[in-house]
Amino acid sequence: MTGEPSVRERLIEVRERIARAAARSGRPPGDVLLVAVSKTQPVERLIEAMESGITVFGENYLQEAEGKIAAPTLRGAKWHFIGKLQGNKVKRAVSLFSCIHAVDSVRIAAEVSRRAVEADTIMPVLVEVNLGCEWSKAGVDPAALPGLVEQIAGMPGISLRGLMAIPPVAAEAEASRPHFARLRELMRDAKRHAGGGGRMTELSMGMSDDFETAIEEGATMVRIGTAIFGRRQS
Ligand SMILES: *Cc1c(COP(=O)(O)O)cnc(C)c1O
Repeated sequence: MTGEPSVRERLIEVRERIARAAARSGRPPGDVLLVAVSKTQPVERLIEAMESGITVFGENYLQEAEGKIAAPTLRGAKWHFIGKLQGNKVKRAVSLFSCIHAVDSVRIAAEVSRRAVEADTIMPVLVEVNLGCEWSKAGVDPAALPGLVEQIAGMPGISLRGLMAIPPVAAEAEASRPHFARLRELMRDAKRHAGGGGRMTELSMGMSDDFETAIEEGATMVRIGTAIFGRRQS
């Protein structure tokens, strides 16, 4: 025995922290979707999370996710793709996931659109924004966001639901606050470029180390791994 807290115990604490942060931003806790980021975690840990009320898992790698999604013991769960999506994997992603968090190019969006239309479905997507992380190429530059949003909003088979970002790694959650606030501002602008953007309501921001700050700044989806499952397996 390691004496580590169980997934159930960790979830109780995470949920309390979400509820308190939501209250500070004047919102009910149900306003914030908890996406349990389960990459590298074995199915047994996910079952534990489901038994404690988790309904949505976030996965980064398609191949790894496929095995879990096929597990009969996890039937009923929803799956969000939060990793970098490659063009040749879009077809499978569209069939497996109920939301794609990190679309950052016209090319990938067009492929999602094509595959969704082909499958006769509507795929909810978020656009990932690069908030000035020089070490990361992921996400669209804020200057290019309006143009990308305009194009995606016009694509069949796609429901553009909002924005997602990963702020630069920082020692303190407070350092992420201006980035979260910026994403919220960018969304306001992006909505106009989406032609009203009535369905653009989601801000996917905040991870284990900074989700409370993200919620205070308006997050509607938090992607939390370590704080639920403990250290990743690999
Ligand atoms: C791994 C990952 C997370 C979860 O990170 P934690 O710090 O473990 O909560 C959230 N979002 C993305 C995009 C990730 O890759």
